[in-house]
Amino acid sequence: MWANCYKIVDINGHKSMETENHRLAGTEQLLAVTIESLQQEINDLKTQNHELRERLSAKTVQEEQISKANYGLQIEILERQQTETALRLLLERLVHEKNDLEILLDTTTSHSDTIEALMYDKALSLAREVTIDGMTQIANRRAFDQRLATEWQRLAREEMPIALLLCDVDFFKRFNDRYGHPAGDDCLRAVAKAIESSIRRPADLAARYGGEEFAVILPNTNRDGATFIAEKICRSVNELKIAHEASYVGDYVSVSIGIAAVLPERQVSPRGLIESADRALYLAKDQGRNGFVFNVQ
Ligand code: GH3
Ligand code: MG
Ligand code: MG
Repeated sequence: MWANCYKIVDINGHKSMETENHRLAGTEQLLAVTIESLQQEINDLKTQNHELRERLSAKTVQEEQISKANYGLQIEILERQQTETALRLLLERLVHEKNDLEILLDTTTSHSDTIEALMYDKALSLAREVTIDGMTQIANRRAFDQRLATEWQRLAREEMPIALLLCDVDFFKRFNDRYGHPAGDDCLRAVAKAIESSIRRPADLAARYGGEEFAVILPNTNRDGATFIAEKICRSVNELKIAHEASYVGDYVSVSIGIAAVLPERQVSPRGLIESADRALYLAKDQGRNGFVFNVQ
């Protein structure tokens, strides 16, 4: 384009060429300025572009953060919904249970008398279970130990005597061998009844001491009183007339009894009394059985 201009200048003469040169110089200047300003604009645009890119990348980071936060929120919403469902189910169950309890309460209130009576019976039978010997239905060893301990202390305070009888069925092993174990059990039940029927006072206690041995606690009883009861027991058992063909002392089941009586002391245990009655029992066996011996300590 510039080459064409020079051609025109050559055709139209020297003066017009100078003017044209002038004009061209001005245009050139203008162009330079324009180019400069364009470059400036380009630079500005580049800067703007750069800034925009930066802002864009910042926006992308923000967007990622927002999308992460959004994801987290959605999970939280899901969890809350699940918790809500679980709580609703729990509430339903509680309401159900409450209704059941109300029905139960109504029933127990309207049957409270019956329930009370049943509980009383149950308590009584439990109390029996722990203190009564299942086979003979008289006091068991546990009840014996407790009663002896309390009576011992009471009589020590009152300075009154206590007596103890230890009764043992004679040749009972031979009885079992001859008549069988079930018959032996029946025999023990009958002997237990005979012993229990021989005592009269409310404070007296007949207990199964173990195996074929029975113990009798006689509070406020001295040697004479205890001997009287021992004699009575021997007689009662004889009168049962339970055949004992294998016995070496008679035709019927009999017992031997050891008797002991003391004035209890608070600081001393009742063990000495038991040992004393046991020694007497040994003597009664030794002296021929079917009788009683009082042990002098
Ligand atoms: P002793 O005259 O010297 O007392 O002789 P015994 O045979 O009575 O004494 P021993 O101690 O030799 O035997 C006691 C027997 O009592 C042995 C045992 O099997 C029996 N016995 C213990 N408890 C029970 C029971 O609950 N039922 C039955 N049937 N027998 C029992
Ligand atoms: Mg024995
Ligand atoms: Mg015996």
